[in-house]
Amino acid sequence: MYDMTTRQTQANSVIDLRSDTVTRPCAGMRAAMFEAPLGDDVYGEDPTVNALEEKAASLLGKEAGLFVSSGTQSNLCAVAAHCARGEEALVGDCYHIAIDEAHGVSVLASVAMSILPTGPNGQVTPEDVVAHIKPDDFHCPISKLLCLENTVWGQVLSLEEIAAPAKAGRDAGLKVHLDGARFFNAITALDCQPQDLARHADSVSICLSKGLGTPVGTVLVGDSDVIHRARRFRKMLGGGTRQAGILAAAGLFALEHNVQRLAEDHQRARQLADALSAIEGLNVDDRMTQSNMVFVNPDTSVRTKLPDIMEQKGIVLSYSSGRMRLVMHKDVDDSGLERVVDAFRSAAA
Ligand SMILES: *Cc1c(COP(=O)(O)O)cnc(C)c1O
Repeated sequence: MYDMTTRQTQANSVIDLRSDTVTRPCAGMRAAMFEAPLGDDVYGEDPTVNALEEKAASLLGKEAGLFVSSGTQSNLCAVAAHCARGEEALVGDCYHIAIDEAHGVSVLASVAMSILPTGPNGQVTPEDVVAHIKPDDFHCPISKLLCLENTVWGQVLSLEEIAAPAKAGRDAGLKVHLDGARFFNAITALDCQPQDLARHADSVSICLSKGLGTPVGTVLVGDSDVIHRARRFRKMLGGGTRQAGILAAAGLFALEHNVQRLAEDHQRARQLADALSAIEGLNVDDRMTQSNMVFVNPDTSVRTKLPDIMEQKGIVLSYSSGRMRLVMHKDVDDSGLERVVDAFRSAAA
């Protein structure tokens, strides 16, 4: 039907560790996209989008789902669905909504953010949640929502670290949104069912285009009411799309085929951390190796040699200052892992 072997081989000769967003759809995923039954999703008539939304919702024990273009759009739609103009969301200080979304919830949804301190594992405490809830006083915005995240910079919050602040928020009348961009990495590491984590939140956002390997897409799940309001906001953002089933098909394929294999990424991250720990001058932050990410902080002497060596070996890293993040994903196999370790070894020699 079509031949993508050459393209795939070329893509795979480079190992890109900058993120798990760099994955390319496999042949099976492309075939599923090619063959997907389609309709107009703005009319609610795309059977593949509907199937994806229903599947994600039922997996997480929620009533409804909404397919959106990105994790950022999903978080924004969720916050706007939970909060009215002038209300407030409590967000951990290192969470994506607080630092990586251009404050869209404030700019576009007119929702204020109250920033919570996070602990060494990325968790927020129930005490801090309670302390940040505003009194019913006209000098203050109305606290409406608590935004949690899991995983956080590759760190896995335990069910208790999610349940405790969520309960504190809910007891005080807040709704809870979970930014689960890497939700399935979290439940893989926790070895629990999707619903065990999802039940602590009223809405959950799951990126399909990170470890799950689709080219585009995130799905937001929650009760029908919240999803109904999120759908209106998606429309307002210009995010209503037509034969989106061609993309949703990739998401369905991912939920079926790419969830189990996340354990492999975690195992390779562990192997990488162990191998790099044995190399002098790399300074692996071992505590951070909890899912598919490894963080290293190479000595300057090693760091300056990295760009040339990595380029020679066909390995792509990001060289921002401070610690470097190495991310495992489905396009890195065992031989790729070996190549990466060898390259670091040469740089440190
Ligand atoms: C990647 C990510 C998002 C959203 O990312 P998009 O690039 O907009 O899809 C949201 N939250 C977290 C924690 C993320 O890692």
